[in-house]
Amino acid sequence: MKIRVQVFIESETGNADTVENIVCLERGDLQPENLGLTLAEAKSILAGVQKSMVERQTEEYLDQEAFCPLCGKRRLHKGHHTLTYCSLFGKLRLRSVRLYHCDCHPQPTKTFSPLAHLLPEHTAPELLYLESKFAALMSYGLSVKLLREVLPIGKTLNAATIRNRTQAVAQRIDAELGDEQLFFIDGCEWDWEDLPRPDMPLTVGLDGGYVHSCAQRSRKHGWFEVIAGKSVTDDGASKRFAFVNNYDEKPKRRVFEVLRSQGMQMNQQVTFLSDGADTVRDLQLYLNPNAEHILDWFHITMRITVMRQMAKGLGPPGSELRETVLKELERVKWFLWNGNAFMAIETVSWLPDEIFVEDPTEKHKKLVRKLEEFETYIRNNAALIPNYAERYRYGESISTAFAESTINQVVSKRMVKKQQMRWSQKGAHLLLQVRTRVLNGELRDAFQNWYPSFDHDGEELPLAA
Ligand SMILES: [Zn+2]
Repeated sequence: MKIRVQVFIESETGNADTVENIVCLERGDLQPENLGLTLAEAKSILAGVQKSMVERQTEEYLDQEAFCPLCGKRRLHKGHHTLTYCSLFGKLRLRSVRLYHCDCHPQPTKTFSPLAHLLPEHTAPELLYLESKFAALMSYGLSVKLLREVLPIGKTLNAATIRNRTQAVAQRIDAELGDEQLFFIDGCEWDWEDLPRPDMPLTVGLDGGYVHSCAQRSRKHGWFEVIAGKSVTDDGASKRFAFVNNYDEKPKRRVFEVLRSQGMQMNQQVTFLSDGADTVRDLQLYLNPNAEHILDWFHITMRITVMRQMAKGLGPPGSELRETVLKELERVKWFLWNGNAFMAIETVSWLPDEIFVEDPTEKHKKLVRKLEEFETYIRNNAALIPNYAERYRYGESISTAFAESTINQVVSKRMVKKQQMRWSQKGAHLLLQVRTRVLNGELRDAFQNWYPSFDHDGEELPLAA
């Protein structure tokens, strides 16, 4: 049996209708593997239909452009060149003519290329969308393999192309972000009172993580810091944001716009929870007049848990030093839980002496270093330590176990999975912009904004990706 696939193009402009042969498929005895189309056949059909369709569409467009829209006179031909256009179904070489402008009215240039003007990007929006969406979720190399396997996009697509196009999408998104400001608090208290009653508080978790740098000059320069965060409304709707700390020029604006997109008003309570690092602490200032800044209880307990583990290594259960340290750490935790940073610092500062009473081993010294670090940490962040117990009783947020998982979800899963993955600050920052859009389910919105009739039928990706 022979199955001929053809395209029939019915013209509406008076040109003759045309029929084009796409492929001819042959089938012998029926087997499970030859029932219907194979992927390779489907790809060649798609590529064939695409080529024939695009050629006719562009021909028709150029036929229209051949005449001056004002006086109807035929425009003179100056020559033509080939325009390469990457579509979802193949790389196309289109004939692009250059025409003289009509002299019935003044023009800034003498000639123009209608097709080059119509298609400045040389890449189909839907292909750009798919490339950046997959590159946000998996490596550039894997994205290429996936797209090449299922679409007839040709062998020339490579990881560098996808990276460049994804970065261009990110730059376009970033270019739409407003200017950086030191203060984002808008209006005054009188205005805020007139605002409608806001929703329940927004909770924002902020955290930092590290990405391996490709520009390693020394051990110290081997990594750079990425800040990631998640803003959660009272009904659980969440959005993520992320940026490379020393690269981004608009970190405050970035966070502000995410909060605003979640409906933040100036009379709304916003709770920032962080682990208290300087960079993160400065970032959250002046974004909202009703903001409160709290050291994330999760980060405190994490640190105490680590010290408890070390204390358990000091001796067998019941041994005096081990039990003393464990008991004191429990008191430190209790003081902090009740917002008493002063007593917590007192207790922690006394412990190293206790430990050094004996002949100190490496284990003792390590724990002492951890205790000293912890003391500094609490001292530096004392102003951010509330009475957690009381907040907890009133149902207010005290912890974002989610902040830690945000870093993992936004940054680590894509960027630090393998030690050998190295990043430039720019490359990491731009990828994070696309990745957060994808995780927030917002990438399609961006494309619809740029291409109003953009109509991609795919699923928005699950947030857990
Ligand atoms: Zn004219």
